[in-house]
Amino acid sequence: MTHDGTAADVLLTLVDTDAAIDRAEHRREVLPARDRLASASAALTAWEQRRGELRDGCAAAEAAITESESIGATCDAEQAALTAKLRTVIAPREAEALQNELAQVAQRRSDADDAGLAALDRHGELDAALSELVAAEADLRAECSAADEELRSAEAEIDAEMDVLQQRRLATRGELADNVLARYDRLRAQLGVAAARLVGSRCDGCHLDMSQAELDEVRHAPADDFPDCPQCGRLLVR
Ligand SMILES: [Zn+2]
Repeated sequence: MTHDGTAADVLLTLVDTDAAIDRAEHRREVLPARDRLASASAALTAWEQRRGELRDGCAAAEAAITESESIGATCDAEQAALTAKLRTVIAPREAEALQNELAQVAQRRSDADDAGLAALDRHGELDAALSELVAAEADLRAECSAADEELRSAEAEIDAEMDVLQQRRLATRGELADNVLARYDRLRAQLGVAAARLVGSRCDGCHLDMSQAELDEVRHAPADDFPDCPQCGRLLVR
């Protein structure tokens, strides 16, 4: 009571083909190039963020320089006005008040100059960091392109392999009876591998030995049928 070979061979070919499709899908998901591209993209995103921060810092430093220059000009004008007024004043108390005001203006100007110089230093540092960062752009973009190309190429290779497997899958399914396919598909969804060989008294799917009674039942199933493994339910190929 064994199969004539044909249907059994077709079923086992379908099992192998579906397993190969599963492996190819998994390989496609875990391609090293996928990680490489993710790292390269993350590095480029971090680079763009850093460039944005440095540009903002430069703009803020430039604004601080402009501000200190504006304060300086205002102080100069005030100083000129106060100095002119001082020349016309005779009362010592009034002159003293003007001198105090002049001292305050001088202090404000000095503070603004210090702030301007500090902003100039900051701008210089940020600008240098920005230049250094910009110099790294080409390499980062090249790595992204290379990783992208490697991934596309690896995917295309697997896709071509997958096309062949899918054609073989359709061809083998075309040779199997509808009721066998229905059982096969249900078991494949449940167990991943839907059919197994009977090796001696053991199912090659679950590797469990059958009792003599189970074995007799399996052996006496119609020759053109695939009996269920009494342990795991897989289609048994005798
Ligand atoms: Zn089994």
